[in-house]
Amino acid sequence: MWGLPVDSKLVPSPVSERPRRDVRPGFRDLTLGEAGRPRGGIVSDRRDFDFLVIGSGIAGLFFALRVADHGKVGLVTKKRAADSATNWAQGGIAAVSSNEDSVEDHVRDTLVAGAGLCREPVVRFVVERGPRTIESLLKLGVEFDRAAGPDGQRAPFDLGREGGHTRRRILHHRDATGREIERVLLSRAAAHPNVTLFENHCAVDLLTSRKVGLAGENRALGAYVLDAATGQVERFQARMTLLATGGAGKVYLYTTNPDIASGDGMAMAYRAGATLANMEFMQFHPTCLYHPQAKSFLISEAVRGEGGVLRTRSGEAFMAQYHEMADLAPRDVVARAIDGELKRSGDEWVALDITHRNPEWVRQRFPTIYERCLAFGIDVTRQPIPVVPAAHYCCGGVRTDLHAESDIPNLFAAGEVANTGLHGANRLASNSLLEGVVFADAAADECLARLPHLREREPDAPLWQSGLATQSDEVVVITQNWDEIRRLMWNYVGIVRTDKRLARARRRIALLQEEIAEYYWNFRVTPDLVELRNLATVAALVVEAAASRKESRGLHYTLDHPERDDARFLHDTLLRRGGTDGPA
Ligand SMILES: Cc1cc2nc3c(=O)[nH]c(=O)nc-3n(C[C@H](O)[C@H](O)[C@H](O)COP(=O)(O)OP(=O)(O)OC[C@H]3O[C@@H](n4cnc5c(N)ncnc54)[C@H](O)[C@@H]3O)c2cc1C
Repeated sequence: MWGLPVDSKLVPSPVSERPRRDVRPGFRDLTLGEAGRPRGGIVSDRRDFDFLVIGSGIAGLFFALRVADHGKVGLVTKKRAADSATNWAQGGIAAVSSNEDSVEDHVRDTLVAGAGLCREPVVRFVVERGPRTIESLLKLGVEFDRAAGPDGQRAPFDLGREGGHTRRRILHHRDATGREIERVLLSRAAAHPNVTLFENHCAVDLLTSRKVGLAGENRALGAYVLDAATGQVERFQARMTLLATGGAGKVYLYTTNPDIASGDGMAMAYRAGATLANMEFMQFHPTCLYHPQAKSFLISEAVRGEGGVLRTRSGEAFMAQYHEMADLAPRDVVARAIDGELKRSGDEWVALDITHRNPEWVRQRFPTIYERCLAFGIDVTRQPIPVVPAAHYCCGGVRTDLHAESDIPNLFAAGEVANTGLHGANRLASNSLLEGVVFADAAADECLARLPHLREREPDAPLWQSGLATQSDEVVVITQNWDEIRRLMWNYVGIVRTDKRLARARRRIALLQEEIAEYYWNFRVTPDLVELRNLATVAALVVEAAASRKESRGLHYTLDHPERDDARFLHDTLLRRGGTDGPA
């Protein structure tokens, strides 16, 4: 009765080509290609900027606006500019903004959620900057809801509260906070004379001086970027580069993330030699609507808060067996319980039932959910809602410092692509938008300070090479591998893991990587192929990180090692091309 969610993204497009190269499978060479290998062939212009920004969500746009008065900004984004996770964020942005809250409270809540792996100086850095971040957003024109206040005074914010927060501290714009932020930042960036926006331009690989054979300390030089309209891969060179490519939710079959979230920035940084951290910590949201056309619609936790009951398809309420708080148990417990029920029964969804509440009240309380479900033929006042847990937020990413810089000089990363140390082993709700702005801001400070000391123009990176590659006549290979990776990640590397499942996943991903590599080097590169290659790399990195953590902590839960083990694992999982770096 229910099919799988369909991805509409797999449309082939013509592009430039590369020569074949030998494929060496296995974790130590997950990369399926190298940026900067000398290539000749299609002649494409070099584009030059002071700042190259890859991604047009909250992090990329905020950074672009901060630096644009001081230099030329190239802003590339692989689809339309507003296609970002930012645009989908509902709940809001966490920041201390009332007398009943304090920096200490926000710091403590973040540390508790992070299960021992947050970097406390980073948590303080972010939380202390919260109020000033909100001021910056307000100055740019973002509107947050306010409670009714006394006449003539600026009314206080209408603050929301979410799981894990001991105070009301979530600023929001109705239930579409991200859309408001994206709207304001994008219109400002698009209007700035120093910002050139390149939509439908997909970064393929980063350029570094080491990869292209330049002398001196290794440093970022920009990126190869594929123009989906012309099929050309061009060199976008810049004095400093910011990765703001967002998360990697698409690596799982079910996700709340938009299509753009294929982990491109993480994979590109990894191939370029940057360190990635904590890729095993993927946050799953317990209740995402299950429907072939719905793809990724969240059913808010508030439905359970208002009495919604999770049931098996045969109608049994099951949460009481898992936690004393039953349906109001913490998010990760509910996600694990649903996963357990699905694995046990073989069903594809469980039901969330709010039919016992007054229909009129349900319509008033949950207008968006009511309307959206009705559009898919589900009247939530009379029918249970089919739901599945879904990958929601990637706590791991490119390891960065307090200036948002990676371990490749002049390569910065901000937003979900980065691992700053804020979230540790589990993200506190609504801390991610805050993190994105704080570190985009920090990156901008550092880039502006550094700008006068950098060379005006680096030598040319080699042209993207056209080889004997042809246009693929079997795009089905991409579709097949895309589906296979996401399904095997869901089944073997999902909410509950075991050593055996991880070993199976590792073997299969290695095979898929081989096949994708062969395809990548034989056929013209397309945006879909770029994403598939990156998805495979990210999948391999998640498996590797998960397999190395032989304990359960935060978002990483394994049946073979169900306890937290501080003696052995109170450290980050660092991965760098060529091998694991070990504890930090
Ligand atoms: C449904 C949903 C609800 C959420 N609710 C909240 C919330 O209430 N509060 C909160 O704090 N967080 C929330 N989050 C998380 C938060 O929205 C994200 O973590 C945050 O918006 C990420 O911002 P970003 O700038 O890092 O990336 P994004 O906003 O995802 O933007 C990434 C950009 O990079 C571009 N890109 C990617 N790869 C390439 C490439 N190869 N070449 C060129 N461009 C590329 C994309 O096209 C996009 O423009 C939610 C997430 C989802 C999915």
